[in-house]
Amino acid sequence: MHNGFNKSAQFYAEATKYIPGGVNSPVRAFKSVGGTPVFIARGEGAMLTDVDGNTYIDYVGSWGPLILGHRHPEVVKALQGCLEMGTSFGAPTELETELSKMIIEALPAMDMVRLVNSGTEATMSAIRLARGYTKRNKIVKFAGCYHGHADFLLIKAGSGALTLGVPTSPGVPAGTAEHTINAPFNDLETLQEIFRQVGEDIAAVIVEPVPGNMGVVPPVPGFLAGLRRLTEQYGALLIMDEVMTGFRVAYGGAQVLYNVEPDITCLGKIIGGGLPVGAYGGKKDIMSQVAPAGPVYQAGTLSGNPLAVTAGITTLQLLRRPGVYDELEQKSARLESGLKQAAEEAGLNLTFNRVGSMLCTFFTSEPVTDFISALKSDTERFAKYFAGMLDKGVYLAPSQFEAAFMSLAHTSEQIDQTIEAAREVFKGLTQ
Ligand code: PMP
Repeated sequence: MHNGFNKSAQFYAEATKYIPGGVNSPVRAFKSVGGTPVFIARGEGAMLTDVDGNTYIDYVGSWGPLILGHRHPEVVKALQGCLEMGTSFGAPTELETELSKMIIEALPAMDMVRLVNSGTEATMSAIRLARGYTKRNKIVKFAGCYHGHADFLLIKAGSGALTLGVPTSPGVPAGTAEHTINAPFNDLETLQEIFRQVGEDIAAVIVEPVPGNMGVVPPVPGFLAGLRRLTEQYGALLIMDEVMTGFRVAYGGAQVLYNVEPDITCLGKIIGGGLPVGAYGGKKDIMSQVAPAGPVYQAGTLSGNPLAVTAGITTLQLLRRPGVYDELEQKSARLESGLKQAAEEAGLNLTFNRVGSMLCTFFTSEPVTDFISALKSDTERFAKYFAGMLDKGVYLAPSQFEAAFMSLAHTSEQIDQTIEAAREVFKGLTQ
């Protein structure tokens, strides 16, 4: 029995009086899918309960961090222990070194790491570092990749910026955008041409190794290795933004999966176990430029926050257990193949992209390999699919251009229930 969305609607109306758009991050407002954003009362494992008492199988997982599911008992216990110690000191704790060591051990390209509070801070700081290190200004980013909302990265960005059709936000001065070059993802030839023209001025290429902010788009074979080769040839740095893929597609991240080493890696989400964390790191000669070791300034009152770091340590400890990523792969493959079959049965020709536990159902029959092909998706049909799934107790990201995340907490039964729900919703879409 569905309880409706009365309380959510009431809470949303109240929130819009005090918070712009009623939300603290745009995509939460359900703008591209219509309807009322669901207000959450609690989470447990793979399940969410909203304020009206409806329950959902959750494939958002706080947009990626909750790879263990909500309220994992060991994470909760560790956090309770940490509360006994204090919540913030603005002074060093041993915990920060422990998490940093775990991250560095997982990533061969990283000797040192700086903890920050969000993915946005990580990418913003990584770009400043790359510019400081190379003494160059230009950066290259790929259309449809989202790297947070720093001015110079908010150009043809994915995620909420893409969904809302605001690729370049008002408030970003032309002079700031001037140094950002946009390139199509999965297209080495265009990048080669860019480097041929201005390669000597390029400080860094920043890339989501598996973009998850225009739906999920796997890199074509050789693309990431090509980025590595080109940047090296011209003395530019390669920044992998693994805020989403880090410890998601493999222990460590996409750079481990595809065996390509960047100069700087950005992390977030999973390494904070559901609390606010980001990080950027790389080889010692680059990271030694960061203040106070070097001249490139970057700071944070709450950086290395003990609660966030504790949740991160416990999460990584659990992810280090053998078989974890195989389990995620099996669960994700089960969901993907079930959804594919259900779509076929309904006579829908959809495109499914998946890398490990990141997956996306594109409402287009054509392959999705970049931003332009992602935009061919029928977003109105997606909106109906989203609403139908929500009604049947499946919480998907409220946008075509986002990933679904599998967690270790999802059970086979929950996955099969999801497929069953999709079977019915897909049928409704063709009628
Ligand atoms: N980079 C990537 C790849 C992301 O997916 C995100 C957030 N979805 C960010 C950066 C920004 O992170 P945050 O929202 O924590 O600022």
